[in-house]
Amino acid sequence: MKNVITETIVDYENHVNLGMAKLFKIMGLDTLEWKTSGTIIEDIEGNKYIDCLGGYGTFALGHRPPEVIEAVKEQLDLMPLSSKVLFNQALGQLARRLAEVTPGRLQYSFICNSGTEAVEGALKLAKMATGKNRIIAAVNSFHGKSLGSLSVTGRDVFRNPFKPLLPNIDHVIFGDLGDLSKSINHDTAAVILEPIQGEGGIILPPEDYLVGVRELCDNYGALLILDEIQTGIGRTGKMFACEHYDIVPDILTTAKALGGGVMPVGAFIATPEVWEVFNESPFMHTSTFGGNPLACRAAIATLNAIEKKELVQKAAESGEYLLNRLKELVKNYPGIINDVRGKGLMIGIEFQHESYGGLLISELFEAGVVVAYTLNQQKVIRLEPPLIISREELDKVVDVLENALAKVVELAS
Ligand code: PLP
Repeated sequence: MKNVITETIVDYENHVNLGMAKLFKIMGLDTLEWKTSGTIIEDIEGNKYIDCLGGYGTFALGHRPPEVIEAVKEQLDLMPLSSKVLFNQALGQLARRLAEVTPGRLQYSFICNSGTEAVEGALKLAKMATGKNRIIAAVNSFHGKSLGSLSVTGRDVFRNPFKPLLPNIDHVIFGDLGDLSKSINHDTAAVILEPIQGEGGIILPPEDYLVGVRELCDNYGALLILDEIQTGIGRTGKMFACEHYDIVPDILTTAKALGGGVMPVGAFIATPEVWEVFNESPFMHTSTFGGNPLACRAAIATLNAIEKKELVQKAAESGEYLLNRLKELVKNYPGIINDVRGKGLMIGIEFQHESYGGLLISELFEAGVVVAYTLNQQKVIRLEPPLIISREELDKVVDVLENALAKVVELAS
C-alpha cells in the first residue's frame, strides 16, 4: 500500500505539479483518495472522511448516487457521445428540464462540460444579443480560469500573469449599488455576478442589492448574468440562489452539482429574446463534447433526484441547523474566528488569520472531516457538504470542529 502512495506522490512531483504535491504533503494530505459513497470519502488505507467540502458544491447528491450511476450506465450501452448530426433525446429533455427548474422565463439552454465554459458562453451570448461589448463584474468574484472567465473574475493574483485580458471590463464592489450605478451606462452589454460570492469567501449581498442591480440593468438595457455554478441546484436552500432575492437574470450559468457528481456538465440558460441571436445563427457557439448523452442523462437524473428527495428543502433545514450550531460554537473563540455565515449548506467560517484556517483543515482531516479554503480568501474555510448529509453527521462535524479548534488555540498560543 505504502508503495502505491509513494509512487503516486512521486508521479505528482515529476509529472503533475511539484508545488501542489508539496502543499498536500505539508498539510498532511499525503494519502490517496480511493473510493466514495454517499457523504464518505475513503482513502486507499481504508480511513474514512466525512466530505464537508463536497467537491466545491459538486456532490449535492452525495458520492455515486445510484439513480445517476444507473442512468449513465444505461446510456453507456446505447450511445455515450453524440453524432451531432441527428436530434438527441437526452439533450432535448435536459434543456426542457432546465427550463422547468429555473425561475422566470429562462427557456433555452446550451450544455457544456464545465463551469468556466458556461461563463464563456454566457458572455458571448450577452455581447451578441445586445450588440454591445462592455461587461461589469465584481471585485472578489470567481467565474473560472479560461481567458474570458478570468477577465471577469475579480482576483488580481489569478489575472495579472495573463494580462491583457478581454478589454472593456470593469469591476465594481460587490454589494454596493452606488458603485454599480457609477459604472453602468448605455454601452454596458451585461453585468455578471454570483448571487452569493463563493470563492470570494461566502459573501452574502445586502438583501436589496440584487433587486437594485436588476433595476439598473433594465434602465440601461444591460443583461444580467447570474453565475449560479456554485450556488445552484439546491445548495443554498433554493433551487437557485436568485430565488432568495426574488429576481430572475436574463442568463443563468450552472455546472458543478448538475452532473450529480458523476459526469462533468455545465449549462447556460437564457430567455427567448436573448437567445434569438443563437436561434438565427445556431453554429455561432458549439462544442464537440458539450451536450453529450452521457452527461445529459446524468443531469436529468440529478434534477429528478433533487426534486424526489426534496433536497432543496433539506438543504435549507440542515443549513439553518448547522449555521446555528456553528454560531454557538464560535462564541467561545472570539480571538480566533471573525464570523460564520452562509445560506443553506454553503457556509463559511472566517478566521482572524489565514494560518488558523490552515491548521484547522489539517486537524479536521486527521479527525476524519474534509474541508477547504475559499480560493480568493484564505481566511475563510467553507463547509459545503452533500445535501443528503444527516443530522448525526452534522453533529459529528461540529464535535470534531470543536476539538480541532481547541487544538488550534493550543498550537497558536
Ligand atoms: N463560477 C463559479 C461561481 C465557481 O464557483 C466556479 C468554480 O469554482 C466556476 C465558475 C468555474 O467552474 P469550473 O471550475 O468548472 O470551470
